[in-house]
Amino acid sequence: MAGEFDLIARHFNWPAPPGVLGVGDDCALLPIRPGHRLAVTTDLLVEGRHFFSDVDPEALGHKALAVNVSDLAAMGAAPVGCVLGLSLPAIDDEWLQRFSKGFRSLAEAVRCPLVGGDTTRSASGIIISVTAMGEVPLQNAMARSAARPGDDLWVTGNLGAPHFALELLQGHHAAHGWRLQDVRTALERPAPPVAFGAALAGHAHAAIDISDGFLQDLGHILKASACGAEIHYDRLPVHPGLHGLPPSVVQRAVLNGGDVYQLCFTADPSSRQGIEALALQHAVDATVVGRIVAGEAGLRVHDAPVPVGPEDINGFDHFK
Ligand code: ADP
Ligand code: MG
Repeated sequence: MAGEFDLIARHFNWPAPPGVLGVGDDCALLPIRPGHRLAVTTDLLVEGRHFFSDVDPEALGHKALAVNVSDLAAMGAAPVGCVLGLSLPAIDDEWLQRFSKGFRSLAEAVRCPLVGGDTTRSASGIIISVTAMGEVPLQNAMARSAARPGDDLWVTGNLGAPHFALELLQGHHAAHGWRLQDVRTALERPAPPVAFGAALAGHAHAAIDISDGFLQDLGHILKASACGAEIHYDRLPVHPGLHGLPPSVVQRAVLNGGDVYQLCFTADPSSRQGIEALALQHAVDATVVGRIVAGEAGLRVHDAPVPVGPEDINGFDHFK
């Protein structure tokens, strides 16, 4: 792409940390500690499909990286670096400057340096591809298949706000438009618990990041682990911006709303104190919301305002 080198130099060539060969050579070189595995994850964001064309570019830069480091956290991996593929209809320096600012500030906050990428012109629309890499101690990766009956079921942060914000932006719940300022940040600037996720490896069994919806993503753990779960609706952490809304609206956002980028994980009850100490240390809210049970028992949500049916969890067919 014409001007590609200038563009990279202007917007994406930040100093690499010591020991890392970053942007500017044919490959980046990243150190991995002995006894660790490289964790790799990638996500594509397509204009019109994953983000509105008029979204704040700074928020978009943040989110493009956030959705990837969220996957690292769910595996128990500590970030080592990321690469950025950008396909752009035109070079818009103001847009790029804001995008790179949002990307960079999160990259620095979670210590996931941008070490390379590729830039091309697109026929229509912006396409963003981010690949993040992390390292996880060999035995401690939090696979989806590692949940065991008797485990506590935990959720970090809170649920519901991104889905409700999206509904407000789409023009629903007009009488509650004033709530947008309370919930919008959760949609546009998700803050996955990156350092906490890495620290959790060794304490927790299975984990997943909540991207499609709590029940649906939990369903992936249950399926991979051949387990069921009992959830107490009253214990689910609800974003304060949803308090006072009709219970059915809250329930849908909390159980099925996506874009949360917090963790759902399972751990032996004997790990409770250790996990609470880690949460405190990392300034993360972590809540026990239920427990893992044998597979035949299926998935039950106790005390939900509206009965929860199989249609609420795609892909998990042991619903009871
Ligand atoms: P090559 O042709 O060897 O793939 P490029 O000319 O595509 O190299 O890129 C030059 C350098 O700039 C490489 O180090 C590449 O990783 C980096 N780079 C290209 N695009 C981006 C981007 N969007 N963000 C970060 N680094 C980039
Ligand atoms: Mg290239």
